[in-house]
Parts: sequence; structure tokens; C-alpha cells
Amino acid sequence: MSSVTELADLANALAPRLVTDVPGPQAREMIERDRKVTSPSLPRVYDFVPKQGAGCVVEDVDGNLFLDVNAGIAVTSTGHSHPRVVEAITRQAAELIHYSASDFYLPIYSELCEQLARIAPFSDAAKTFLTNSGTEAVEASIKLARFATGRQYVVGMLNAFHGRSYGSLSLTTSKAKYRTGFAPLLPGVVHTHFGDFEHLETVVFKHLVAPEEVAAIVVEPVLGEGGYVFPPDGWFPYLRELCDRFGILLVADEVQSGMGRTGRMWAIEHFGTEPDIVAAGKGIASGMPLGAMIAREGLMKWDAGAHGSTYGGNPVSCAAALATLELLEDGLIENSRQVGGVLIDGLRAMASRRPEMRDVRGLGLMIGVQFPDHEHMVAVEDAAFRRGLLVLGAGEDVVRLSPPLVLRRDQAETALEVFEEAVAEVAKA
Ligand code: PLP
Repeated sequence: MSSVTELADLANALAPRLVTDVPGPQAREMIERDRKVTSPSLPRVYDFVPKQGAGCVVEDVDGNLFLDVNAGIAVTSTGHSHPRVVEAITRQAAELIHYSASDFYLPIYSELCEQLARIAPFSDAAKTFLTNSGTEAVEASIKLARFATGRQYVVGMLNAFHGRSYGSLSLTTSKAKYRTGFAPLLPGVVHTHFGDFEHLETVVFKHLVAPEEVAAIVVEPVLGEGGYVFPPDGWFPYLRELCDRFGILLVADEVQSGMGRTGRMWAIEHFGTEPDIVAAGKGIASGMPLGAMIAREGLMKWDAGAHGSTYGGNPVSCAAALATLELLEDGLIENSRQVGGVLIDGLRAMASRRPEMRDVRGLGLMIGVQFPDHEHMVAVEDAAFRRGLLVLGAGEDVVRLSPPLVLRRDQAETALEVFEEAVAEVAKA
């Protein structure tokens, strides 16, 4: 186990730097062991076996240094093992690892909920329910929306991803394979098109369900797993107006887009709309398991016992989240905006030289590059990996760049160079 000082050196190491082909011998051996004992449902993307990380650099089990533009799937917002997060976790673990906040009072749980109320993207006061994951935050949102409105139906978006537990899965439609074999899903869930100004009113509310029976519209401000798709201008204000007209709650799933990723604390802030409920996760605690369902105070009228969790909002995750929030507000959100701009400009310039890059879209460090088809995208992802750059597909044909928000300008420039080599290799093949 490396000390924090050694990890800090790793953060400044030049990456990528490969000392074996990837996957190397240790990684191959590890993968063989893993396959014998782990659930084959785990959707492993490529053969990367991380050992330790700092900032945006991750060393694998063979000693190869990778430049991480995934952040462990948009999670390690403050970089891998940020010393201030490590210090907060260590301090809290030494003091108290667990006492169920559902049944008793944990000061650090309340402190985090105070902070989340302060940053919630709506003007009302907020109350928060803490979870262990994004999908649980979505589950809590569905339950609260039904309870608060007394209505049964929930509207989701085609191509959205909200998680894999049953309620969330019922909303998730980014790939049919996530749903295959699991029916029947939650009744009362209907879908519409992300970014569409007509379908809800002319099809859903006219033919499928009366708007007066809809509890909530659940929507990612930016489609994440569905391919980093941004909404058209005016669409969120349009949804807000519809919700207000029919007494429907607007639930923003910010699990992937929130916590500074887009250059603002919440992606929905870019779109001039206040939601009623926010689901957060991923980057909220730099990699410790934590999610949050943040709601307008007036909605939180459910009774004791209506919802709870043994581990949700455990003190160690809360400590990591408080340290993360401080770091985000002390400069990382601003860094996301600035370095995100460097990446987006660089990718757009690259796309002008490389027509197979069909589209470059992004806000802050939530960036998608679209390729002609799925195979092309997978080939680019793989070519980048073999060069020591970690990127990840999203949707059918998009490579996403969602690095830790500590990405430096020089690292962004290196990422661009390596990415262009990968794109060029695939174009030649
Ligand atoms: N919501 C969104 C927008 C997500 O991107 C994800 C995960 O990718 C989830 C919910 C589910 O989060 P978790 O995997 O922590 O349950």
C-alpha cells in the first residue's frame, strides 16, 4: 500500500507510460481468476486492472501508468485518492465507521444534508435522504413522488439510464439488454422522447395516461449512459411549465451530470430550470458509496418508517462527501469549466481534420464524441486503452470523456494527442 506522499508523486507522473503490452501478464492472470468467481453480468468493458491511483493517473497491476479520462465512470470527481478526501475518510473511520442514521442521529449526516440544502438547485428549503448509490436515490425519488402526489404514474425518457434496481430499471431504456429477462417491471411507467416538444402532449397525455395521474417526470439533464446527449434550448423550461400546469413533479437525475461535472454544481443550472427533486450520486463522495435524494422541503411529508436504509449516508461516506464539496467549491468546478473548454476546443479542431468524428458535444468535463457506428466507437476505445488512455463508450456510438475534475491543462493536451492517435489508427484499419 502506498503512502499518501507516494500517491501524490503518482498524480504528477507523466502518463500514459506503458511498460508492458496491455493487458500485461499480471492483469491477464488476475482476469482469469476473476472470471471464475464473479458474476458474468458485470459488464466489463476492457481488460484494465487498476492497482493504485492519484489525481488523473492510475497504475495497473503490471506497473503501467494510464491517464484516466473515465474517473471510474464519472465518480472520482476530486481525482483518485485526493489527500484531503483520504484524510477525511481516515479521520472519520478512526472515530466512527457506522451507526445507522435511519434509526439514530448522526451529526455528520445532518451536516452533509445542510450542505446539500445550501447547494440544491431550487430556491425552496431542501430536505435530503442519503443512500449508498445512484439507483437508490432514484428509487427514493420515485417513492417520494408517488407518496407526495398520491398519483401512480411516472414518465421517463427513452435512452435514459437511472440504474438497475427494479424501480430505476423500469425507467432505464438506454439499452434493451438491461431489461431483458426481468419483466414484469414496475407498473405505471411510461416513456417519452428526450428533447421532444410534442410527444408528451400529443401522444403520452392524449393516449396513454392523463397528466393528472402523473406523479413525476424523471429526466437526466444530460443523457449519460444514453450517449452524452444535451437537451435542445428551451426544453427544460417547457417541461417545467408542463409540470406546473398539471401538478407533476420534475425529478432531475444528476447522478452522472451533477457535482460540478459540467462546470456548474448541477447540469440543470445550465438550462434555467428548477427541479422539485434531485437524485445525486457518483462524484458526490469521490468514490465512497453515497447517493442523495434532495427534495423541496414541502414534499417531504412522509411518515417515520416510510423510507430508510441501514447504511445510507454512513459517516465515512459523509466525511468523504464534505471534503469533496469543499474541493469542488474551492476551484474544481471552475477547473472543470476551463479544462473542459480546452478538451472540447481541441476535439472540435480534431473533428475538422477527422470526418469520422461525427459530433463533439460537451459542457465542462462531460464530453461525448460520436463515431459512425458501434464497432468504430469500440475500436477507438480499445486503441486508446492500448495507448494508456482510459476512455469509455456511452450509448451506441459515442466515446465519453468524463475525467476527474482535477484534470490539468497539460494532461488535457496529452489526452488529445493520444486520442487523435487512436482515432487515426482506427481510420487506417
Ligand atoms: N442515474 C444515472 C444518470 C446514472 O448514470 C447512473 C449510473 O451510471 C445511475 C443513476 C445509477 O447509479 P448507481 O450505479 O450508483 O446505482
